[in-house]
Amino acid sequence: MRLYDTARRAVVPFEPGEQVLMYTCGITPYDATHLGHAATFIAYDVLQRRLIDKGHTVKCVRNVTDVDDPLFAKARELGVHYLDLAAGEEARFERDLEALNALPVASTPRASSAIADIRGFIGMVLERGFAYEAGGAVYFDVERFPSFGSVSNYTHEQMIEFARERGGNVDDPNKRHPLDFVLWHPSLPDEPSWDTMWGPGRPGWHIECSALALRELGTTIDLHGGGSDLIFPHHECERAQSEAATGEPFVKHWMHVAMVFMDGHKMSKSRGNLVFVDALRKQWDPRAIRLGIIEHHYRREWEWDDTLMPRNEARLQAWLAAPKWDDGVVGDVRAALDEDLDTPAALALIDEAVAAGQGVHDAAALLGVLL
Ligand SMILES: [Zn+2]
Repeated sequence: MRLYDTARRAVVPFEPGEQVLMYTCGITPYDATHLGHAATFIAYDVLQRRLIDKGHTVKCVRNVTDVDDPLFAKARELGVHYLDLAAGEEARFERDLEALNALPVASTPRASSAIADIRGFIGMVLERGFAYEAGGAVYFDVERFPSFGSVSNYTHEQMIEFARERGGNVDDPNKRHPLDFVLWHPSLPDEPSWDTMWGPGRPGWHIECSALALRELGTTIDLHGGGSDLIFPHHECERAQSEAATGEPFVKHWMHVAMVFMDGHKMSKSRGNLVFVDALRKQWDPRAIRLGIIEHHYRREWEWDDTLMPRNEARLQAWLAAPKWDDGVVGDVRAALDEDLDTPAALALIDEAVAAGQGVHDAAALLGVLL
């Protein structure tokens, strides 16, 4: 199988061992699942299904970021405890993914379950000289880590620009360098706080995933995923602190899923241009929702439009009504998936066979990979 690797900027062989260790950054559970989230996790679901189809076992970990600023802000607004809000939204997310027939992942650990792991992890980074304490916080020292930037391949100037846009507090006077990032910091008065040797507070966002990946999967993982908006700073910072802590390579292959757009902008909670999965599934067969997602290649941004669901409901019905299915297509579909998970090509092959009145003989196996 070949897959695009973000760090190497090329489609390269993806040849893991029998067991594939995967980590995908999950949700911050403060609102319902929108189509952009679903597109991300369905892409990894199709990958996981194809790997299983090829004879691998897959151990996929998908975290829940239940210690984070947007969750605290929403809980504050609603006047509820942040963990109650998180538990409710996490359950809704799980229901949506289950309805979309996503395979269960090996574990869905919560950041709040990992405070002891995070403390230990920060201790390792400090001990190896890659972090420093200042103003009650612990910062990662990017100047001690010369390959910082090699996941995103951004220049120093681009990284500063993105850090400034994406909450990186580049002007924090406690920092030695504007790209240094927080591993631990003091909490606001109404936020949760835990005691540590370097002062009370809470973890930074990036460290949660590094600590959970190490705890659940070990030092080196085969594939790390998430939305393309996580490449920088989140994944850049994760890699730096993980390799600083363990001295081992963190990730063999970085796979990112492009954003879904609506009204010309990325679907986002902050902008409110969202299509919710639970609303879609009241109206449409969940398999048609999956088809609507995977008719786009995972690396290309795409825009929601109102023809998407009728078109894919019709496609699903045509597939299901197709007469006797023909074997030839199965191999071609698998080959398409093995070339950078080319789901649009896979769908086109089946559409063609169905239009020609052929169908696919081994439909069950094939649909098991796609739907
Ligand atoms: Zn993450």
